[in-house]
Amino acid sequence: MKWFRAETFDPDFAAALVRVSPNRNARRDGTAERTHPPDMILLHYTGMASGKAALDWLCARESEVSSHYFVDEGGIVTQLVPESERAWHAGQSFWNGETDINSASIGIEIVNPGHEGGCPPFPIMQMRAVARLCRDIIARHEIAAARVLAHSDVAPGRKSDPGEWFDWKYLADEGVGLWVEPEPLGGGRFLQEGDSGMPVDALQTMLRLYGYKVDADATFGTATREAVIAFQRHFRPARVDGIADASTITTLHRLLAALPRFS
Ligand SMILES: [Zn+2]
Repeated sequence: MKWFRAETFDPDFAAALVRVSPNRNARRDGTAERTHPPDMILLHYTGMASGKAALDWLCARESEVSSHYFVDEGGIVTQLVPESERAWHAGQSFWNGETDINSASIGIEIVNPGHEGGCPPFPIMQMRAVARLCRDIIARHEIAAARVLAHSDVAPGRKSDPGEWFDWKYLADEGVGLWVEPEPLGGGRFLQEGDSGMPVDALQTMLRLYGYKVDADATFGTATREAVIAFQRHFRPARVDGIADASTITTLHRLLAALPRFS
């Protein structure tokens, strides 16, 4: 009788437990079969009723999904895929011209039942573990602050995780990711779906400069609305409605001004 013995690996993050997911392959670099070094971190919520069910799913061959890391509510970190390999967490995605986000990124699944589960807060022990894990990854791969992103940033309209209640400010205070103080909600002019012209063109230019997928067609259509929603989830979570009000536009300006390449 021959037994199949699951292969294992040493964790890249020293404090991580290891549970191997078969859902992985080699990182690709565009059309060539070269290794793409990870230069982006993508954060997700699991969006399932329990953490155990989510971990089982990420390790089940038939799911065809995985992530590099899994962080439970108590802050225990499990590594499923070596960082040198390509985990399958991003799906159909886009950021700053790149479409193979799985090859470019390290994916972290954070246990939380998500929007469908009532948006419960991420416990502090879990957030501390996410911050510690990200700092370790950032130091080893020199990942830019502006490239620590939400799944919803790279797949707006299709994905909404880790959700607008995820504490990006806490992470930034811990040295992870880019954060600017959001402009408070208020009145003033706004842009919404159906609008067109120069102000829409300017809004699209700003969204594209950060990395969002929108056409530069000066028409506020579905893609622009979805990118505004993704931006709001991450950077102006007080209201997520897809309307580019003065608060949204001012916060977006502030974010671009904070990018190293513009300062
Ligand atoms: Zn996700």
